[in-house]
Amino acid sequence: MELNIYGGAHEVGRNCFMLHEKGKYIMLDCGVKLGEQTEYPLIPDAMGKHMRDIVVTHAHLDHSGYLPHVFKEGLRPNVHATKPTKDLVAVLLADYARLGKAVRKGSETFTQRDVDVVMNNFRLHEFRQPFHSGHGFKVSLLNAGHVLGSAMVLVEGEKKVLYTGDISVRGTKLLDGCDRNFQCDTLIMESTYGNEELPAVKETMKKLVHEIKETLKEGGHVLIPSFAVGRGQEILLLLESYMKSGAIPETKIYVEGMIGTGMKITRQNLGYAKEEIKNRILMSDDDPFKSPYFHTPRRKDRDDVFEEPAIVVSTSGMLTGGPALGYVTRMAPDPKNKIIFMGYQAEGTRGRKILNGDKEVEIDHKMVKMHMKVREIRISGHSGKSELIQFAKGIKGLKKIVLIHGEEDALKSMKESLQRSYEVVVPSIGEEIKV
Ligand SMILES: [Zn+2]
Ligand SMILES: [Zn+2]
Repeated sequence: MELNIYGGAHEVGRNCFMLHEKGKYIMLDCGVKLGEQTEYPLIPDAMGKHMRDIVVTHAHLDHSGYLPHVFKEGLRPNVHATKPTKDLVAVLLADYARLGKAVRKGSETFTQRDVDVVMNNFRLHEFRQPFHSGHGFKVSLLNAGHVLGSAMVLVEGEKKVLYTGDISVRGTKLLDGCDRNFQCDTLIMESTYGNEELPAVKETMKKLVHEIKETLKEGGHVLIPSFAVGRGQEILLLLESYMKSGAIPETKIYVEGMIGTGMKITRQNLGYAKEEIKNRILMSDDDPFKSPYFHTPRRKDRDDVFEEPAIVVSTSGMLTGGPALGYVTRMAPDPKNKIIFMGYQAEGTRGRKILNGDKEVEIDHKMVKMHMKVREIRISGHSGKSELIQFAKGIKGLKKIVLIHGEEDALKSMKESLQRSYEVVVPSIGEEIKV
C-alpha cells in the first residue's frame, strides 16, 4: 500500500493523506492550516478522479477545513465520519465561511452553499462498525478520545493501517481515552506533544481552583479564552463540578461565542460521552449541561456581566477574534482581573503575545495596556510523549510508524525513541511512501 502526503507533515495543520493500493483510494482527513495566511493541502489535480471517499477524523479545521474547497471544484466524494463530527463540522465550516468572507471581502474561496453541499454528502458510522469504501477498502472508526466523536481510522487492505488523527490516551471529564490494544502493521501517528510530557491532571486542577478562587475573592473577573469545540465544553463541565462540590465559590459562569453551540451538540450526542456523565443525566435530573451556573449575557454592552465577580468562557481560544476580545479590552486595565490560557497559543497570535508578557496588545486598532494577571494552565486533548509511545507499544504486530502532525523538535524526539523497535518514517509534503 502507498501513502501520499498532501499536508500535515513537518507541521501541525492541514492534515491530508491519500492511502491507496491497486486502484483503491481513500483520503484520510482534509484540513487547512490557519495562520496569518491560510495554507491548503497540496493535492495534485490528477488525484481528483480517485477521490470517492474521505474519512474525517474530527471537526477541527486542520482536519476538515478543506472539504468545501474540494466540493467547490465539483467533486462529490462521500465524507465518512461519526455523527458528532458531522454536527460540529457544520458549525465550524459555517463559521469559517463567514470569517473568510469578512477577511477576503468578495474574493471568497467558498460560500455557505458549498458548505451545505459538503454536509449533504456525509455518511455516518458508529465506532467499531466496519464499512466498505466505494473502492472496497474495509474501514473502521475507533474512539480517539480527543473531542466528542473524534475517531481513529483503521483501513484493511493488503496491510492493516491505523491512522490516529488526534488522540488523547487519558480520559477527561467528558470523554474516555482512545481505544487501545488492537493489531495492525502500520501506524500513522500524530506527534503534537512528541517532545513534552503533559502535567498530571490533579496538579493542573489544583492550580486552576487556586487561581479562580484568588480572583473571585479579590472581587475580580476571570476570563478563559477557549476553542468552540472540545476544550470549551471540558472547561465548563470542570467549573460546574467544582462549584457544585464547593471547591470554587458559586459564581455566574458566562458562556460566550460558539462554545454554547458546542455544548448543545455535545448534549445531543451524549452517546459518545463517558459512561459517568451519561449515567448522571439518565439516573437523575442532575444535568450538568443545564447547570444554573451557566449564563448568557443579557445586555449587548455586557454591563450585566460586570455587576459582580464572575467567570467568562469565550471564543476565540487564541484571541484572534470573537467576543473574548471585547472582554480583554474591558478587563485589561484592572489588576484584580485575570486571564487564564488553557489551550495552545500559536506563534503570532494575541494570546501568545500576552502570554509572552507583552504589556500592550492591539485590539480593534487601539493599543490596550495589560494590567490584569496572566496565567497559563494547560489542559490538552492530545497525549504527552510517553503516552504516545505506550500507545504504539500496545499495538500487536506493529512494524512501521509514520510520524505526522508535529513540529520539528517533536518529530525528532519521537523518532529517536521509537526507531529502536520500529521502522520509523517522517515524511514530507509531496512524498509518496510505502506503508
Ligand atoms: Zn484536533
Ligand atoms: Zn489536529
